[in-house]
Amino acid sequence: MNSIKERLASVNSTLPEGCTLVAVSKTKPAESIMEAYDVGHRHFGENKVQELSAKAEQLPNEIKWHMIGHLQRNKVKYLAPYVHLIHGVDSLRLLKEINKQAERNNRTIDCLLQVHIASEETKFGLSKEELEALIEGAELDLLKNVRIVGLMGMATNSDNDALVSSEFEGLKDLYDRTKEKSTHSNVELNVLSMGMSGDYKLALKAGSNMVRIGSAIFGLRN
Ligand SMILES: *Cc1c(COP(=O)(O)O)cnc(C)c1O
Repeated sequence: MNSIKERLASVNSTLPEGCTLVAVSKTKPAESIMEAYDVGHRHFGENKVQELSAKAEQLPNEIKWHMIGHLQRNKVKYLAPYVHLIHGVDSLRLLKEINKQAERNNRTIDCLLQVHIASEETKFGLSKEELEALIEGAELDLLKNVRIVGLMGMATNSDNDALVSSEFEGLKDLYDRTKEKSTHSNVELNVLSMGMSGDYKLALKAGSNMVRIGSAIFGLRN
């Protein structure tokens, strides 16, 4: 059996320069995170506020915490003091709450807008039209304490590589077009977060520069 350190190194060796690896540690204990931390890894992702908060409290402050799950507005306040990047922003209402809590903490919070790219019904995210409306809307200018730094998407959970690739390529297109169009001072797209353990190689081919990888590093979850 390979160790977390070995699996981390092996994943890292497949990533191109400039690609950020978010090690998804959800359901895994603090000791597992420390194994990766001890060899220099700093970006970790969690999908539940309570679990993220509990881990952040007991682990080193140098960790850059990524909130990758669906975030409820009433829980933003718990993450606002320290969260590094919120991946799952899918409404203006949520963005407004993040802005409010960021202001209270005298900081700017970086966010990714989550776009619905999968053919499955169950995954969260904005439609292409909703993304355009949000990005072009005047209200964004008022949110001085958030910065939209990119887009995030999850492909269909399928072994049909052609389908998964076309979803990733669609998001890359949308990312390129949105990047060109945006005129707000707090929108500067540099991050395209797509790809998980099972599909990150396809995501990289489509132009991802941030992958969120859990089980390939920490082992399967229950
Ligand atoms: C759990 C999760 C991942 C990682 O999944 P693996 O298949 O374990 O790599 C990536 N992104 C999101 C949003 C997740 O919830």
